[in-house]
Order: sequence, then structure tokens, then C-alpha cells
Amino acid sequence: MEQSKQVFNSALDLIGNTPLIKLNKMATEFKGNYHAKVEAFNPGHSSKDRIALYIIEQAEKQGIIKPGDTIIETTSGNTGFSLAMVSVIKGYDCILAVSSKSSADKIDMLKTMGAKVYVCPANVSADDPRSYYEVAKRLHSEIKGSVYINQYFNQLNLDAHYNSTGPEIWNQTEGQITHLVACSGTGGTISGTAKYLKEQNPNIKIIGVDAYGSVLKKYHETREFDKDEIYPYRIEGLGKNLIPTATDFDVIDKFVKVTDEESAHTAREIALTEGLFVGYTSGAAMQALKQLNEEDYFKPTDKVVVIFPDHGSRYMSKVYSDKWMNDQGFFDSQNEAAAQSIQY
Ligand code: PMP
Repeated sequence: MEQSKQVFNSALDLIGNTPLIKLNKMATEFKGNYHAKVEAFNPGHSSKDRIALYIIEQAEKQGIIKPGDTIIETTSGNTGFSLAMVSVIKGYDCILAVSSKSSADKIDMLKTMGAKVYVCPANVSADDPRSYYEVAKRLHSEIKGSVYINQYFNQLNLDAHYNSTGPEIWNQTEGQITHLVACSGTGGTISGTAKYLKEQNPNIKIIGVDAYGSVLKKYHETREFDKDEIYPYRIEGLGKNLIPTATDFDVIDKFVKVTDEESAHTAREIALTEGLFVGYTSGAAMQALKQLNEEDYFKPTDKVVVIFPDHGSRYMSKVYSDKWMNDQGFFDSQNEAAAQSIQY
């Protein structure tokens, strides 16, 4: 392999420009060509590095914040970790208000990256002053020189992907992409990327992946908020129980819903076949591709890009734990759980 002197000023220079990797095994039975945009290659191991850096730099440009000021958000997930990472490097305080349902591992990870974590009760309503939304809002109003990222309702989330993920995929496929398949949570990734791609070629089809238990697919089809669609599910980061304004539903052509169980098995299959250790929603996106192929949706000439949003290491106590899989009833038998570990 050609040697290059890769020297960077900080990890921030490594955000974005993630590789597009051909799916060599999982797509052999599918019609068309398939590549994954593997966002785990970001230094914070997820696509959320892009929005963390972009939103903070926009606030700097507008003179809203300068190093020493405070970044506030309400997540224990990937966005929290990316904000904490960018804050450490740029010299901001990072405050994350999280639900008491967040795992100890997640809270430790955020604290390791220097974030101040406010653990707020999970069993109170969103408008209760103790809820993580209200705590974040109050801290934002009290702390001079702070930004509240508010990713579900921030247009800059979409803009971050319009300016990075979209152009990268267009260039990496040399303008040949015909379909984008991406999970929708805040909707920033899918709508920002889609907006850029459709400006280059309006014929590109954009397919969102949603969870059973979330309102997004139904809202896309009817433009009505149907609360009967909402029930608990396990996949984190995918789907939502409200309509995020960071999603532009008009640039999305179709939604596919996936189950917790099939997505979990498919995530494990990606590791075993492609050697890519990616997160639960990557399994969900790949599961959507399987379902689309079952309905014979694609043509042999199609060039499909699927986004794998984050790294598998974040799910060791969930999808990649045999015990967790068993506890969810996702293994057909005890034998399946034990199949890969041989005890002496
Ligand atoms: N996958 C994971 C693991 C995520 O954390 C998120 C973000 N909530 C998504 C997918 C969806 O990305 P977006 O918020 O840009 O729609």
C-alpha cells in the first residue's frame, strides 16, 4: 500500500471523508451494486461528529460562542459523545442532561470525554422542571455564552450533512449513485444528504429506515401525527415519538420499517460476513435492504449507498451480548447463543 505522511493538527481534521466500502458478501443475492458509507471511521466513531463540529463552528462564526463557553445538549448517545470530543479539543465546557435510564457505561464514556453529566429523572413529563429537556433549557438561559444544540429541531443538523455527507457520497460514486438508504432519527443525515444528492440528480431515490413503534413512516405517508404508532422498541437512534423539524420529509421518497429482532441479527451478520463491526442501526439499515430486495425493488444496474451510522463497540452490553439477545428472546434456542463460545 502507498505510504502517506498522515499528520493532523487534531482529531477534528479527521471528521468526515469516511470510506465507502463495497458489500462483498451480504449483497451477493441482491440486485444491483451496494456500498456502505462507514461512519465509524470518524474519530468519535459516528456520523454525529459531523454535526457536533459543524454546529459549534457555525456558532463560533456567528460570534455566539468562543472557547471557554458552554455547549449544552440532552443526549447520552452518539451526539453527546461527539459534542464532548469537539468541546475537549476546542476548549469548551460540555453539559449533557441525560435521562436516568441511560446506562452507567454511557455516562462514564461521556465523563471520560470531559462532559459534565446531569442525570435527570426518566419518569417525569417533558415539561416537568426536572426533565432533561427543562434542565437543558434552564441551564442554557442561565449560562451566558452557551449554545443549546437541540439536534431534533436544529436546521444546522441537516446543513452539516448537506455540506459534508452529501458531497462525499456524490464524489465517491462519481455521480453514479441511484439510491440512498439511511436511518432516520433526527433526520439530519438522511435529509441533508438527500437534499444535496437530489440537487445533483433529482432521479436519485431516497429511502428512510424507521422502527416499528415510531411515527416517522406514517407521518411521511399521511402528514398526520398518529400517536397509535408509538410503542416501546429497543433500537436506539432510529425513529421517533415526535416529528423532528430537522427532517425534511419532502426529499425522502419512501420509508421502510424494521424490527428490533431482525435488525439485531443483521447487525451481527455484518460483522461475520463483511468484517465490519458496526452498530445496531447499521443492522437496521442493512435489514431494510434485505426487505427491499425481497420485494424486488432494485434493478441490476442500480448503485445503492447505505449509511452505517456508528461503531459496534457501543453495543457490547446489547446486540453483541449473547445474554442480552437471549433475554430479549432473539435466539431461537440456547444452542444458538452458545454456538460460538467453546468452554474447556
Ligand atoms: N443511528 C444511530 C446509532 C444514531 O445515534 C442516530 C442518531 N439519532 C441515527 C442512526 C440517525 O441519524 P439522524 O439523527 O441523523 O437521523
